[in-house]
Amino acid sequence: MPELPEVETVVRSLAPRLEGRRIVDVWGSGLPLRLARPVDLRHVSALCLRRRFRAVRRRGKYILLELGKVSDGGDQGLSVHLGMTGRLRLQPAREPRAPHTHVVWTLDRGDELRFVDPRRFGSVSPADSLAALPELAQLGPDPLSELDERELGARLDGVRAPIKAFLLDQRRVAGLGNIYVCEALHRARIHPSTPASRARGRAAALLAGIRGALESGIANRGTTLRDFVDSNGEAGENLASLLVYGREGAPCRTCGARVRRRVDAARSTFFCPGCQKK
Ligand SMILES: [Zn+2]
Repeated sequence: MPELPEVETVVRSLAPRLEGRRIVDVWGSGLPLRLARPVDLRHVSALCLRRRFRAVRRRGKYILLELGKVSDGGDQGLSVHLGMTGRLRLQPAREPRAPHTHVVWTLDRGDELRFVDPRRFGSVSPADSLAALPELAQLGPDPLSELDERELGARLDGVRAPIKAFLLDQRRVAGLGNIYVCEALHRARIHPSTPASRARGRAAALLAGIRGALESGIANRGTTLRDFVDSNGEAGENLASLLVYGREGAPCRTCGARVRRRVDAARSTFFCPGCQKK
């Protein structure tokens, strides 16, 4: 599932090609997406038609497509979540639409922005104010731009849940999923079942681990396990740079011990028993 580095990769590949483009038509499949909710196409059309995409940004795992001119005031736009298999592609309108295309914005100069999502766990939410969208309002700080060691320490304080569960909770820290949590904990040398409150004294190492894992992912344009591609359709190359995720039984790149996999809350956790002691 796309996490912060994959979403950032989509934003970076999309922004220079989409910003300033005018929307001339909107189409939707009408099928339900995340939480069995269909896209509110009337609202999307009302916001988008005959206006321009002003900016493409990211917050946590959400892609924000801002609309209109700054002088319009407000922060109208669309929030897009890729869910498990979502793709946001900018393609010439003459190219056939992929199966499972659910929303299409026809742009000036013969291109289309297309939201494709075979498993339909993604979402496209129109908003008269992006800041007021509940899914965005309840997000925790972005670890690359809004989190420092003190703030992370304060958030860890008193939390009995394991550090892995803490980091996966988007309300505590935004943007991390299973891959980058495993990678961050390994870099910080913290065992994944450590109670979050006990990692408080290592907040600096943890923040450095989180940032290191995310920055590696962004530098390699995302991790493609199966589905992920950027807005040009290109896969990411971070898989070969992962330190523990997906490497069960392989030697740790730091100490040579065998990487282990355990299952927590029905999800795989990869860690090195040599580097990450309980
Ligand atoms: Zn190790």
